[in-house]
Amino acid sequence: SDNNRGFGHRSYGYTRRGIRGNFVPPIRSKEGGAGNMTSRIARPAGKGDDALDDSTKRCLDMLCGPDGELPEKLRNLEPRLIEHISNEIMDQDPNVRWEDIAGLDHAKTCVTEMVIWPLLRPDIFKGCRSPGRGLLLFGPPGTGKTMIGKAIAGEAKATFFYISASSLTSKWIGEGEKLVRALFGVASCRQPAVIFVDEIDSLLSQRKSEGEHESSRRLKTQFLIEMEGFDSGSDQVLLIGATNRPQELDEAARRRLTKRLYIPLPSSDARAWIIRSLLQKDGLFKLSEEDTNTICKLTAGYSGSDMKNLVKDASMGPLREALRQGVEITKLNKEDMRPVTLQDFESALQEVRPSVSLNELGIYEDWNKQFGSLS
Ligand code: ADP
Repeated sequence: SDNNRGFGHRSYGYTRRGIRGNFVPPIRSKEGGAGNMTSRIARPAGKGDDALDDSTKRCLDMLCGPDGELPEKLRNLEPRLIEHISNEIMDQDPNVRWEDIAGLDHAKTCVTEMVIWPLLRPDIFKGCRSPGRGLLLFGPPGTGKTMIGKAIAGEAKATFFYISASSLTSKWIGEGEKLVRALFGVASCRQPAVIFVDEIDSLLSQRKSEGEHESSRRLKTQFLIEMEGFDSGSDQVLLIGATNRPQELDEAARRRLTKRLYIPLPSSDARAWIIRSLLQKDGLFKLSEEDTNTICKLTAGYSGSDMKNLVKDASMGPLREALRQGVEITKLNKEDMRPVTLQDFESALQEVRPSVSLNELGIYEDWNKQFGSLS
């Protein structure tokens, strides 16, 4: 097409416009000027830019600086890894707001002060006020750690990068190190940026089992080096690690994750809020205050994600009942369905059990006392 005219002849990254002709907003590049680098990007031996396919070119094009050059940090990285980071790991619009997260007021306050303000006003948060670049969110699974990460990126207008550490070791066998370099490289070109590493314990664990492979040790070292790098610089990049096994992190990991916030199970009020907000979204909330309180009492120990599953199951109640009474699904009138009741929740409670055990909670609380930022 017209848009792609001349594509194969262009040496990539020279143009100020995207390869499709669309405007590419300038991205701050620390290296600044056009530089005298001769190698632009790592290419497969003997092949030029023409060896890259369109989608890869598009990704690289988006990362070019105002001078139309690929930032220095990215020049020695493999284009396919940069593309993977841009397409699969980077999330331009995380779409979670503080008000979507039930409870956790304490964590929200801390995070606002510790990371959102510094990302919004780097000029004020320097010197004595310079923030840590590493935040650990720990606690049982399904309590909103990922949501907080996304909300931080949203509130600070930062680019969000999500990676699960276990995928680095399982899916990217032997390439994890390169991917980590690409991740930090792309993030620093997309500032301000938030890198969220889920299950960070599997990357930075202190276990030195005999089975620990050389490759996973190298991966860990590479990760710590990258963190060290942006910790000392003026980059606007924040690393958030999430884990439900904080006790497995070693001293080096703790040192780099300077703030450590406990994200506990939702309180009774937070559980009520989750029920109400999920049902209200679908116009199904008709529970009395008393019934809501009863459900909250019955769900002590349920995580946020358990609550979501519970509400899902309970909201099937009216539907199941209508079908039991012989109404055909195709003839079912949405308006005729009764609202979700306490009884629906009582049957759902038989199906959806809490996923976190009481003795697990003790481990988090102990670790919080010992290493947590503010308890
Ligand atoms: P974690 O990262 O702690 O394992 P997530 O943030 O991925 O948990 O939460 C999983 C899902 O559970 C969310 O998408 C949301 O629907 C629900 N959830 C968990 N915690 C909360 C919360 N505090 N407020 C609202 N919803 C929550």
